[in-house]
Amino acid sequence: MSSTPRQPDQTPSRQSRPPRTVAAELALVDGVLQPAIVTLDRGRIVAVAARPLSAADRRDADLLVAAPRVLLPALVDTHVHVNEPGRTEWEGFDTATAAAAAGGVGTILDMPLNSIPVTTTVRALQVKRAVAVSQTHVNVGFWGGAVPDNLGAGQLARLWEAGVYGFKCFTSPSGVDEFPALDDDQLLRAAAETAELDAPLIVHAEDPDLLAPQRAESTVYADFLASRPDAAETSAVTRVIDAARRTGARVHILHVSSARLLPLIAQARGEGVRITAETCPHYLTLAAEEIPDGATQYKCCPPIRDERNREALWQGLLDGTIDCVVSDHSPATARLKLGADGDWARAWGGIASLQTGLAAMWTSARGMGIPLERVAAWMGEAPARLFGLAGRGVIAVGAAADLAVFDPEAELPVDAAEMQYRNPVTAWDGRTLTGQVDATIVGGRLVWTAEGGVDRGVIRPLLRRGAGVHTVESCA
Ligand SMILES: [Zn+2]
Repeated sequence: MSSTPRQPDQTPSRQSRPPRTVAAELALVDGVLQPAIVTLDRGRIVAVAARPLSAADRRDADLLVAAPRVLLPALVDTHVHVNEPGRTEWEGFDTATAAAAAGGVGTILDMPLNSIPVTTTVRALQVKRAVAVSQTHVNVGFWGGAVPDNLGAGQLARLWEAGVYGFKCFTSPSGVDEFPALDDDQLLRAAAETAELDAPLIVHAEDPDLLAPQRAESTVYADFLASRPDAAETSAVTRVIDAARRTGARVHILHVSSARLLPLIAQARGEGVRITAETCPHYLTLAAEEIPDGATQYKCCPPIRDERNREALWQGLLDGTIDCVVSDHSPATARLKLGADGDWARAWGGIASLQTGLAAMWTSARGMGIPLERVAAWMGEAPARLFGLAGRGVIAVGAAADLAVFDPEAELPVDAAEMQYRNPVTAWDGRTLTGQVDATIVGGRLVWTAEGGVDRGVIRPLLRRGAGVHTVESCA
């Protein structure tokens, strides 16, 4: 693997004003990597000229992106657990959005749990927004939650009005008491309510009757895996599909772990059911065979399955059955993750990956000959399109000025202690990945450089406003 030496004039640096013109030898424009000059003004992309760079372009640009580096649209990560307020010691808006910036992610959507309060009322949404407002470094939007208590009284409609991007529910215990699961009847009611709003219903789909938590009381990874079998996912997804078919709801399967879901999803979609699906970097880049017993930094639910399953998930992504790749960034304290003496039942489930998702995905994709363009689309354009984040995940006139400079040839040694996360735990600790985010621009402002770290400016939270209309308000 060769790497072009860095030259000082090609390295993004902190500037006193936001970059206005970005000249890139390679930029992802119209789905292909090509030379382009991108002009930014007041948080938007106002011009894109896809043509070879002249000497004047290079000289006059505020930021020059030289090959092998590429200019990508900043990623859009629609599955992030920030946990603040309430469990800020697990992660918070400052650290989560700093990690996002460092990972090339320009927009996150925050899950309605594991914060306290959970985002199941307008009041709770206001609390979360107020906490986020003074400390986010990338765009942040919010999911609402559908729980037994807030169904049937117009609460989902009020949350939707107030700007959430859709509603999350669980079919099995969520892990926190404040966010109970829905039974089959409640799932159907939630589907009917969200169908009425035409809001996405996003589902953590495992069948509690097929989970065997006592089997996980062990340090052996195979025991943990056996406690959450493929059948738990297929059974729950069958019910979600049924609810969508009966109500016309738009359902989305979160963190597909078992490749056995793929034919179910493909068939339902073929029959006209409005169903989409995501998976995560850990399911695509890690496999059960390499997880040591007791290594609870790898614990997540549903679990990381075997190598054959991993390969089948890639096929599902390549053939379009899986729509997008998002992190499910879900940290906890080091004590909760690692302090259970390797006992899979007691350790908290959830993997921190906001900062390394792109590099992990690129490391695997490159090994399989899958181009960077596709990885960027799965992690940016696709989730943005699914959830109505218009003008994100693309470099185009009128789109948000959210960009990432990525070096696809740089080596990235992962040291958990060096990450932006509040807690120094990640499943990729000690690995060397390929690909590094050199700079991230959000709303036209440079928020991250590999040399300078995070520029801790503040970006106001993003709210869904009407049909696909959004505001980006950079306080810079
Ligand atoms: Zn999650």
